[in-house]
This record gives sequence, structure tokens and C-alpha cells, in this order.
Amino acid sequence: MAPRQEVFETIEVTRRDVVCDGGGGPLGHPRIYLHLDADKGDKVTCPYCSRVFVLLSGKARVA
Ligand SMILES: [Zn+2]
Repeated sequence: MAPRQEVFETIEVTRRDVVCDGGGGPLGHPRIYLHLDADKGDKVTCPYCSRVFVLLSGKARVA
């Protein structure tokens, strides 16, 4: 029942292309597509909600 989410929440993903909409609620924002670049450390920060998406390389699958 926390009133606010952690600002810099980290989301673990298994694909390089992810969609972020802020998860709805107070941090929700228009849906955008993000790409995790290997040369950026396999992670990307959402410019809207600052959530960090991190690729789980060990579980990555080629789509
Ligand atoms: Zn976001």
C-alpha cells in the first residue's frame, strides 16, 4: 500500500525491445518503445518514468 513507487525501479527483461507505459497509476505515461543497446551495457532508462530496464543476458532469446 505504498503511496509512491521507487523512482528508479529496475525492471529485468529478456528481450532487447521493451515497451514502457510507466506501469499505470501515478507514474503512468504514453506508451513508448525502448531498445536495449549492448554498447550501453544492455540497459536503458525510460525518459518518462526513469525506470531502468536491464537485460538478463543469460536468459536472452533471439526473437
Ligand atoms: Zn516509463
